[in-house]
Amino acid sequence: MEELLDGLNEAQQEAVVSTEGYVRVIAGAGSGKTRALTHRYAFIVNELGVDPSNMLSVTFTNKAAHEMRRRVKKLIGGEQDTGFITTYHGFCVRVLREDIHRLFYPKNFIILDVEDQKILLREIFEEMELKMNDKTFKRILDKIGMLKGNTHYVQQMILRGEMPAVEDAGDMDSQIIQRYLKKQKRVYGLDFDDLLNCVFVLFEQYKDVLEKWQERLFYIQVDEFQDSSLKQYELVKMLSEKHGNLFVVGDPDQTIYEWRGADPQYIVEFEKFFKDSQTIFLNQNYRSTPEILSLGNALIQNNYFRVDKDMETKNPPGVKVVHYHGKDEIQEAKWVVEKIQEITETKQASYKDIAVLYRANYLSRFIEQELIQHNIEYTIFGGFKFFDRLEIKDALAHLRMIAVGDDLSFSRIVNVPKRQIGKKRMNFLREKAEQDNLTLYETLKTYAGHERMRRTDARSFIEAIEYMRSRKEELTVSELLQEAMQKTGYEAYRREDGDQERLDNLTELLHSIVQYEQTLGEDIDLDEYLQMISLYTDDDRDDQVDSVKMMTIHTAKGLEFPYVFVVGMTESVLPNVRALRERKERALEEERRLAYVAVTRAERELYLTESEGFQNGGQKKYPSRFIFEVEDELYERIGELDEALIEEAKEYIRASHPQKKEPQREGFEKGARVKHPVFGVGTIEDIDEKKNTYRVFFDQMKAPRPISRNFKKLVRAE
Ligand code: ATP
Ligand code: MG
Repeated sequence: MEELLDGLNEAQQEAVVSTEGYVRVIAGAGSGKTRALTHRYAFIVNELGVDPSNMLSVTFTNKAAHEMRRRVKKLIGGEQDTGFITTYHGFCVRVLREDIHRLFYPKNFIILDVEDQKILLREIFEEMELKMNDKTFKRILDKIGMLKGNTHYVQQMILRGEMPAVEDAGDMDSQIIQRYLKKQKRVYGLDFDDLLNCVFVLFEQYKDVLEKWQERLFYIQVDEFQDSSLKQYELVKMLSEKHGNLFVVGDPDQTIYEWRGADPQYIVEFEKFFKDSQTIFLNQNYRSTPEILSLGNALIQNNYFRVDKDMETKNPPGVKVVHYHGKDEIQEAKWVVEKIQEITETKQASYKDIAVLYRANYLSRFIEQELIQHNIEYTIFGGFKFFDRLEIKDALAHLRMIAVGDDLSFSRIVNVPKRQIGKKRMNFLREKAEQDNLTLYETLKTYAGHERMRRTDARSFIEAIEYMRSRKEELTVSELLQEAMQKTGYEAYRREDGDQERLDNLTELLHSIVQYEQTLGEDIDLDEYLQMISLYTDDDRDDQVDSVKMMTIHTAKGLEFPYVFVVGMTESVLPNVRALRERKERALEEERRLAYVAVTRAERELYLTESEGFQNGGQKKYPSRFIFEVEDELYERIGELDEALIEEAKEYIRASHPQKKEPQREGFEKGARVKHPVFGVGTIEDIDEKKNTYRVFFDQMKAPRPISRNFKKLVRAE
């Protein structure tokens, strides 16, 4: 017990031992929320004797789940299954694996990513003889996303046989979407939205399933709760109804997924949603130097829609935050990389202690080039994804053929290497499959002897798959993959190809499966592995290598690094141009929160950099407004940023909306004497809160007039 509470302050300890009821922890960045959450988990297991299978701990990313599992294992010993330390999606997969058959889906359903969705859509466009480009693709995907905003469609998707038309099935897009749902069911695919939606439908229609989970999960806790969406909130609310133990932590100032449906009100107004809830505040920051913390605090205070928090730190003073201004991107990149070298040479730091963060992926390019020139190792998280690589998708498709045999995987690999099953024969198979209501693979098996299939290598393909299937139970996943790659001739084909990088990637995949098998200990099931791997993104990769880490600010959420560079701190990059164009205060505030998340990742030193030049759109670049929003004294400025340019920048920022919210103007009280530029002097008779107006009786007029409370030229009369 001591051990678990040691190294936690009083408020954190309170959080750890507050195991019963509805509890929220609200606190700023780096105040030890995640740490408290991890210790609380261990406390419940070790001190209350609760089995980890009775506890759900939701994290925001797989990477975070992985990290929490590692820490928890240290505290509770390695043997226990911590599979319920997971993301919302990961949890949904667990639920669906047990009961999705009730929705007429098999438990080895496959998870579709954007690439898979695109393939399905492409097929539909071909069938309907329509042209498809990136724009139509995006439009349809957006519409599908909208349809999946609620759960009505699930009924349609899972119904067997012909599907009824969607609302206005007449229009072309609806027809496409209709077909899409049908195809999706055909390949037994679920996309990320479906995972949550199907769980809702399952819980709604089969109360016994809901009750089973309610019964099972005695304790539920959620990290980064400020970024939970309505559905996610409803899910944990529903799950916690029986035992009534829900513990959430978060920081409303770090809500950065509002654009994707996150809603901080669930944490801000937690007590409204859960009566008798308890609130714990943490206000000591353990992560950063006072200099970095002050900058973060000062920056976020510019947000209007927020609850003020008071953060302090006892960490010893460090150095001032640096603002570097370069003449162009190349100079900016050179400066950053020189600084990185200086840090590693003079501060006993290694490359892995350093992170370069940015608002958008393309901003990494200049830095990358410079790092390459200096032979500095770096790892980019995000960007082109490992699991999106052609050879990785092919390899996984082989495993899926063994486990599921779905059309998507089949189409992907049946002709790789070439087996003379090209477009025409595929069309033949599709027709027959439709006609006989079989999968493509089953169709191939049925028609392997058909004259249309003569002179193809269909039989050897079938043999290989069937052989693998017969050995599915005895071999581990990694062994299965190795065998499959050989038996189907895929590996030989890649070898002939001579592309070493692809071969290396295949080896890396194999290595990652072996690792996965080792950490989970007991045998892992092929179906389960395939589902879990589909949830993985590149950001979840192992990051123990000694290299500079590069990632977007969104990816950096929840993480910390001794030295942080935030590059491209340029107006209309951060805040981004969309937020500025929309002229919405809320969008701008989300950008400011993003900047806040970025600066609060730093432990020891923080560098904000930007440079002159022109943006893609040909517009001149200026430093971000966020740089000017805090006092100059908080920075050390490096680089030639002359007064004239600063003035120009400020003028540019002023001209582009939305304007920074002014500190709330005092306003006038009832009875106040005011002066209007046209109507002269008068008295405030009343204030209409709803319409946001004053009712002013001007001395020289016969009746009162409504005047907007925002009208700046109404001043107090002397
Ligand atoms: P974020 O909002 O960015 O997710 P957080 O509130 O979750 O931050 P943690 O990541 O839990 O903060 O903690 C920040 C750092 O402070 C970590 O390195 C953690 O180990 C350390 N820390 C937390 N609490 C304490 C404590 N009581 N004593 C010493 N170090 C602590
Ligand atoms: Mg955290």
